[in-house]
Amino acid sequence: ERIVTSQVGADEAAIERALRPKTLADYVGQPAVVDQMQVFIPAARQRGESLDHVLIFGPPGLGKTTLAHIIAHEMGVGLKQTSGPVLERPGDLAALLTNLEPHDVLFIDEIHRLSAVVEEILYPAMEDFQIDIMIGEGPAARSIKLDLPPFTLVGATTRAGMLTNPLRDRFGIIQRLEFYGPNDLTQIVHRSAQLLGVRMDTDGAREIAVRSRGTPRIANRLLRRARDFAEVRGDGAITRQVAHDALNLLQVDAQGFDHQDRRLLEALIHKFDGGPVGLDNIAAAIGEARDTIEDVLEPYLIQQGFLVRTARGRMATRQTYAHFGFRPPRSWAK
Ligand code: ADP
Repeated sequence: ERIVTSQVGADEAAIERALRPKTLADYVGQPAVVDQMQVFIPAARQRGESLDHVLIFGPPGLGKTTLAHIIAHEMGVGLKQTSGPVLERPGDLAALLTNLEPHDVLFIDEIHRLSAVVEEILYPAMEDFQIDIMIGEGPAARSIKLDLPPFTLVGATTRAGMLTNPLRDRFGIIQRLEFYGPNDLTQIVHRSAQLLGVRMDTDGAREIAVRSRGTPRIANRLLRRARDFAEVRGDGAITRQVAHDALNLLQVDAQGFDHQDRRLLEALIHKFDGGPVGLDNIAAAIGEARDTIEDVLEPYLIQQGFLVRTARGRMATRQTYAHFGFRPPRSWAK
């Protein structure tokens, strides 16, 4: 089981909900996003309109679902949640849309995974608050138009490039979430520790923060594991040393990389001589799915400067070699 994965286990969903900030004021970091939403939401409210449709991009665990809930909360409306792969038939989406209350938020996670036929229903729904549905079959089939209440679609996706243009063009507000810096993550860890009733000092919080891959979900997970460690091996309080020992036990290194990250980077160095190498070759070498590499592993490694994508493939960097204590290939010397 991968500790720094951004996937959510079933047992984790409840605790995630409990730790989720409910207002924009409590949403840590992401200043560009928060500043904009602090204008768009009151503006829509003052006009008595529903908020424009919002598209949220960003790697898993950065707060897309949280932001969708905050939008509904701050608009003072309800939220219905679904996800791209769950909506198999046009009727699934039509049922959801026709059950919305005026100005409600419909949150579709993994919106890049909507099927083409379901996506088609969404276009007139987003644009004109109308849907065309077919009733009956064969020669007697006819299409009827249904009016929908005005609503806000909030779509979340891990990958910008996977969305079709017609869908993307129908969002009035597009927000991109960035990886969080150590200060923001320290604040998040502090806040969560308070909610969980865990004793922790600032150095302990910071130690967890810097090893969380820039991701609040991972920070909260490491906090809970450090709490276990503190309760069993210490007096229950999370200090820098306790956090340090707990994270070493979990094999999360000083950069926040876990064994999967290290396997990818080490494969780049040892099997492919630093690259460039294609994604499929890396996937085969480490036995990991392409999607996982692209969505979960690479974004942070790229952001931290340990991997680059070039036209000819993925490459390691000087930093990658330094991290593992190796010299870069001689051909890199300039
Ligand atoms: P995503 O939908 O992008 O995968 P979530 O919205 O589910 O991510 O966030 C994962 C967890 O991280 C949530 O439980 C939430 O408590 C925490 N979190 C995310 N963003 C923030 C933030 N800006 N401030 C505080 N906590 C956050």
